[in-house]
Amino acid sequence: MSENLTFTENVYKNFDRAIARLNLPRGLAEKIKVCNSMIQFSFPVRDGDGFRIVNAYRAEHSVHKRPTKGGIRYEVHVNADEVVALATLMTLKCAVVNVPFGGAKGGIRIDPRKESAEFIERATRRYTAELYYKNFIGPGVDVPAPDMGCGEREMAWIADTYATLAHHDVDHLACVTGKPVAQGGISGRKEATGRGVQFGIRELFRSADDVKGCGLSAGLGGKRVVVQGLGNVGYHAAKFLAEEDGCRIVGICERDGAIWNDAGLDVDAVRRHMDETNGGVKGFPGATYFEDGDKVLCGPCDILVPAALENQITEANADRIQARIIAEAANGPTTAAASERLFQRGVIVIPDLYLNAGGVTVSYFEWSKNLAHIRFGRLEKRLEEGRTHRLMQAIERLTDRRFGDDEFTNVARGADEIDRVRAGLDDTMRTSYAEIRTAQRRFPGIDLRTAAYIVAIDKVATSYMQLGVWP
Ligand code: NAD
Repeated sequence: MSENLTFTENVYKNFDRAIARLNLPRGLAEKIKVCNSMIQFSFPVRDGDGFRIVNAYRAEHSVHKRPTKGGIRYEVHVNADEVVALATLMTLKCAVVNVPFGGAKGGIRIDPRKESAEFIERATRRYTAELYYKNFIGPGVDVPAPDMGCGEREMAWIADTYATLAHHDVDHLACVTGKPVAQGGISGRKEATGRGVQFGIRELFRSADDVKGCGLSAGLGGKRVVVQGLGNVGYHAAKFLAEEDGCRIVGICERDGAIWNDAGLDVDAVRRHMDETNGGVKGFPGATYFEDGDKVLCGPCDILVPAALENQITEANADRIQARIIAEAANGPTTAAASERLFQRGVIVIPDLYLNAGGVTVSYFEWSKNLAHIRFGRLEKRLEEGRTHRLMQAIERLTDRRFGDDEFTNVARGADEIDRVRAGLDDTMRTSYAEIRTAQRRFPGIDLRTAAYIVAIDKVATSYMQLGVWP
């Protein structure tokens, strides 16, 4: 009866399915599963002429690799169980995409939509100071990033607070990722999770063999997509998928209901409408509005992209979902029981720990850039450009053909930071997908989620054994 399970218990249930297939030494699976450290703390934040107490969390799930890494959720209901579940997923996610970090996650119990920027700033700075004095933040210790309810602005406050406290640390910028580019961030981080979702879905559709089980053809052309949650991840995923030739976003679910248009929705126009009307999709022109978002979530489409909260696809609606593919952009959107139902129905779930790993992958690039103290490509860009230029001139001489000016510029252009970030992310999503499919073939009859868990747990187990922590 997994519908009564907490978020952590759902993650553990998925974990146990994978463990049953691996032959690990006694006790090691349990060691990998449990959360290493979890702090829960409260602090006062000035509010007008008084104070308010803010509750906060940070979980470091696994320290088999340092630093640990994971976002901070700014959400009024965030709780200890949720933070531990998300930290556990981070450990597995990093392993799946070969990012050398342990998993972590944080939470600040405030509603960012209702608080002033000043209050959020004071809470963020105090949260950072608390982490610093508790030794839960630092470039080699634990490196936060954005999650729900926050973004570049909050990461800049964290970096600035840490730099003030750790002024002796030359690597202070690497204490947090997801910073604005002008303050030590990296090009492409903001959209990285959504971009990774696009790349991951592309991987599945690359081979007719991989999608034929669910009754779809290869390629994204002509596919209808429904997205739940048009925040950072959902907006970018929807925008990039809509740019794929012939792919259209037919439905969007948000907090206040959902909208539908068979011909496809203009994602940027919906986002603008949400900004102008303070958050909702209601009243968006040229689409049918449904107060009950479930109608659109279960509407006729090929791919459903949950990009909001956990526990959105449960036993209550799993049988009504018409999508043939669930692309988990959010963390934990499908319960373990619903996953089982969907698998029996031949629906493919592309699991969260793989599909939304674009954020942590590009965060890894940002962290490496901060430690290197140099922008990617600064040394090579002109070198590459000059070499390709000379090669093209040689081709001209040998073939007696002239390239056009545009051809010269486009082909010879050296790669910028954004080109390198995108290529690195694409390569990561391809390699990891191939590893997950290999595991799926090795254990016939398992879904992609179990295969991804197997890949991840196997790597963490190997790390512990190589460290000599386990005989
Ligand atoms: P966000 O706060 O930017 O966006 C969340 C969106 O979901 C908002 O538009 C919100 O209005 C909407 N929403 C909230 N409740 C909803 C509901 N009941 N129904 C429909 N929509 C609802 O958050 P985000 O950073 O985009 O994160 C979304 C999910 O992706 C989370 O599960 C998060 O853990 C996961 N994730 C985020 C990142 C990242 O880099 N930000 C990385 C990996 C995973």
